[in-house]
Amino acid sequence: MPRIAFVNGRYVPHNDACVHIEDRGFQFADGVYEVVACINGKLADERGHLDRLERSLSELSIDMPVTRRSLQFIIREMLRRNRLKNANVYIQVTRGVAKRDFPFPHDVPASIVLTARAFQFDGNVKVQKGGEAITVPDIRWKRRDIKSTGLLAQVLAKQEAAESGAYEAWMVDDEGYITEGSSSNAWIVTKEGKLVTRPASTDILRGVTRTALEKICAELQMKIEERPFTVQEAYDAEEAFNTSAVALVVPITKIDGHVIGSGAPGPVARKLYGEYRAYAAGERGEPVAWVADLQEVA
Ligand code: PMP
Repeated sequence: MPRIAFVNGRYVPHNDACVHIEDRGFQFADGVYEVVACINGKLADERGHLDRLERSLSELSIDMPVTRRSLQFIIREMLRRNRLKNANVYIQVTRGVAKRDFPFPHDVPASIVLTARAFQFDGNVKVQKGGEAITVPDIRWKRRDIKSTGLLAQVLAKQEAAESGAYEAWMVDDEGYITEGSSSNAWIVTKEGKLVTRPASTDILRGVTRTALEKICAELQMKIEERPFTVQEAYDAEEAFNTSAVALVVPITKIDGHVIGSGAPGPVARKLYGEYRAYAAGERGEPVAWVADLQEVA
């Protein structure tokens, strides 16, 4: 059975799927994306991801080429045609195909591409054993709240992590505070047991997984301290972990070679992983909507 992609209205064999060389996604990274996990046949936080997709597009004045209902259908059709129950579905929307010129083109429909990739959420070794992180300077642009396909800084950060045998790169702002992971939000648990993560602002991508965990933690009466934290605080933490739609909750056991806490995945990360899985499976009622309004923090 060939792997299937969706490109501008057509389901095509993945190997033959192409976009035009003048697509602005290719020429300028003029586009945005989303990733939605499908865990045991159930889409995790679909509503949150589609809310964020719409917000990213609206911040860039790109019109969604299909309705939300159609997109929901296409996502399901991609899973069905690829016979996937555990997968990550990637949605990419660009400003479309136009003669190369910086300003927005007129009357050009946005391009849309979906791909789906099998992913085994159960038994993920990184979740069970934890991973290592390194810190790197955050060299990205200033609108990190937009899920742009312009990921060059993250590519370089992940490469550096890979070369030093680490799993993730935690990015550090000019003042020495961690912003987030290169493809995840960053959290620590202090020696005093406080759960800390950076507040949502234009400095980070407001993770949909992070937003869900905020709600879950409130229900569990686990207080989250939303504030920037330094690299030294991360070294001294009892626990550290990352959250993302792809990897859910991944414990970080070493940062820049410093062993975090006991050096093994800690109880808070483990608990939140279990709670998030229950939430994603629909065991906690309706998923939360993604909170799109960043005015208060921008
Ligand atoms: N920050 C960055 C830079 C990311 O790329 C991601 C992954 N999309 C996240 C945070 C986590 O976001 P989410 O939980 O919505 O996947």
